[in-house]
This record gives sequence, C-alpha cells and structure tokens, in this order.
Amino acid sequence: MNIDDILFHLGESTPFGGTSASPPIYQTSNFIFSTLDQMKTALQHEDHIPFYTRGANPTVQVLQEKIAALEETEHSLIFASGSAAITAAIISQVKAGDHIVCVSNPYSWTKKLIEGILAKFSVASDFVEASDTEAILAHVRENTRLIYLESPNSWTYEMQDIEVITTFAKQQGIRTILDNSCASPLYQKPARYGVDIIVHSSTKYLSGHADVVSGVLCTSSDIYLSIFKNEYMTFGAIISPLEAWLMIRSLRSLELRMEKVSKNALEVARFLEKHPKIAQLFYTHSESFAQPELVEKYLTGNGGLMTIDLKTNNAHQVEQFCNTLKRFKLGCSWGGFESLAFPAITTMSSLNYNKPDTAINRIRLYVGLEDSGLLIDDLTNALEIID
Ligand SMILES: *Cc1c(COP(=O)(O)O)cnc(C)c1O
Repeated sequence: MNIDDILFHLGESTPFGGTSASPPIYQTSNFIFSTLDQMKTALQHEDHIPFYTRGANPTVQVLQEKIAALEETEHSLIFASGSAAITAAIISQVKAGDHIVCVSNPYSWTKKLIEGILAKFSVASDFVEASDTEAILAHVRENTRLIYLESPNSWTYEMQDIEVITTFAKQQGIRTILDNSCASPLYQKPARYGVDIIVHSSTKYLSGHADVVSGVLCTSSDIYLSIFKNEYMTFGAIISPLEAWLMIRSLRSLELRMEKVSKNALEVARFLEKHPKIAQLFYTHSESFAQPELVEKYLTGNGGLMTIDLKTNNAHQVEQFCNTLKRFKLGCSWGGFESLAFPAITTMSSLNYNKPDTAINRIRLYVGLEDSGLLIDDLTNALEIID
C-alpha cells in the first residue's frame, strides 16, 4: 500500500465516516449496548468490536491498522511501552523447559526478561554474538522454541542475516521475533523475510516527539489472536486512547522526520568518521561499517542513531566532552526531535573505569531534527576537549 495512504487515510473512514479531518479520541473505558445480542456479539469478538478499552478502542484501532500496514503484517497490537510489547511477544512463545537463542546484547530490559525473569520459570537461554548468523543457528538445541533478533542491534548495530535465520527456524518449527526499532518500519520490512513477530519501541521514531511511551507488536492473524486473548488482555499493558491519538498525529510526519533525521545523521557521520579525536564510529551507513552487504540487503535508509568511541581512556575527558555539548542533550532514549548523547559511562561504577575492556569512552549519539551544521559545530567544539 502507498505510504501516504497508510499515514493519512488508512483506518480512518470506518467507523467514523463523519466530517472530522482528524479521528476523534474515544476517551472511554466502556461501551454500551442497546440489546443483549449486540453485547454478546461484541464480547465474542472482543479483539475488534469495542467492548471494554483494555481490549478494543476505536482510536487505538485506527493506529493498529496503520502500524500493521507499515510492517506489512496482518495485525498489530499497541502497548503501554516497547518493553511491554517485547514481554508479551516473548512470553507468548515459550513455556517451562524451553530454550531461547537471543542476540548477545539486546535492549537492556529484554535481556532482563530473558535472563532474569524467564529463568525463574525454567526457560533457558543463550546469548550469541549478534553479527554471527552462523553462531546463532549453531546454538539452537532440541528444545529451542524461539530465536530473538535485534537487527541492527543496540549501541553497535550488528546485523543478522534475517532470511537465513527465518528459513532455518521455519524448518525446525521455531518462532522468530525481531526488534525493528532502530531501522523503523520505513527502512526495514522484516515480514518480507519471514519474521513471525516484529516489535518496536514506538516511544522512538513512531511517536517521535519525546512525549509518548509506547510499544507495538506486528504479526499474522493466528499469532495475533492468541496474544490478544492471553498476554495482551491479561497483562493489560495497553496504550491510552489519548496517546494512541498522539501517535496517529505523529505518523503524519513519520516519512518527513525520517528523511530529515537520516540526511542529518549522514552528514554528522561523515564528519565524525574523519575526525582525529574519534577512535571508532559505529554507524550502519559509514564506510567503516563491518557488514555492508547486510545493510545493502535489508536497509533502505539509515536513521539517526550512531555510536562513537572517543580517542581517550581518561574518564575526566569523557565527562568534560559530555558537559561541553550544548545541542546534543544528555539523555537516554532517541527517535524524537531532539539530538541526544548517552554516554556508556553513565551505566558504570567508577571502580571499573580502568578495567581493560570497559568502553568508558563510548557515547551513543542520536541525531535529531536540528540543522546538521549546528550539530557538527557542537561536536567540533566538544571534541576540542580531547587531547
Ligand atoms: C527503547 C527501546 C526499547 C524499550 O522501549 P520502551 O518504549 O522504552 O519500553 C526496546 N528496544 C529498543 C531497541 C529500544 O531502543
């Protein structure tokens, strides 16, 4: 489907039909029926007939249709956070005694779920180097039920050969989940390569204004209905109608924002790649990126995330660099209008600063919507701190 039709029209004619250009916010927890028959029908089809807002809500349904179309899947579910969507997706696929193969450094709370929480319920797991597709497959055991992917991966953007993994997984009856937050549904379409469940932190690009926390899950009709009836309704980690409406508004400008962020990021990356105070740049679309053939195969655009290693082992200089940045704000998250710097050192104890493989000089940058010239000036200025 045409991208403009998805972002501007899809899902908005029914049930609204009226004359409002923007869909109304159904700020209601409950729906009222004029006959018992109607009530009964609604309850039997609670996933698509509004009965109670923890199940279906008309404003949220508009968003669901758009998100599913963007990912080219039959259905989507929207959650209160990316973490909630990921939790529902993973838990829906495993039971006690099963085994999960996961990329080595997924998003931190994904790791917590698999390694910390699911282990308590006798679900075993292996975390495997995210750039090594062969190794991921080699870790599959008889009781492996799920392969969890993040491509590009958090912080250093390792990619997996998705098609090779899903082909193998389908032969073995193993399900695959892929966190597609980094590429966005515009620049990577995992469903085309057979991924069973695609998840996003829609707090990032899909909301895009640093004002909504939400998550999405995209999948086939069968998997959708099972997740709806079980994890979705039980956990109840739903998005509110107001926030769904904010996301619908955000989607109007998704393509524009992604284009601007990508153009900016490419300019910033070109600058950083040549800079003498940068030891290494991690960016899928830089010349030094280790897996250009997978970028070529899977990504149709870049986006605004990149990571730098400063040419220093001195924690004080890293601190000074961060405190000198003005336009890049210090903060977590990404995908909004604002450019951000997230220093790895934030997550570390100062006792570990001098350990050999601690990357205290690593900083994740998100290039937002500001003028790239101003952002480059900001980095130029801060990089002067490093000697
Ligand atoms: C932020 C993020 C998440 C978690 O999403 P929340 O909306 O913060 O819960 C999951 N995966 C990736 C890749 C992320 O960047």
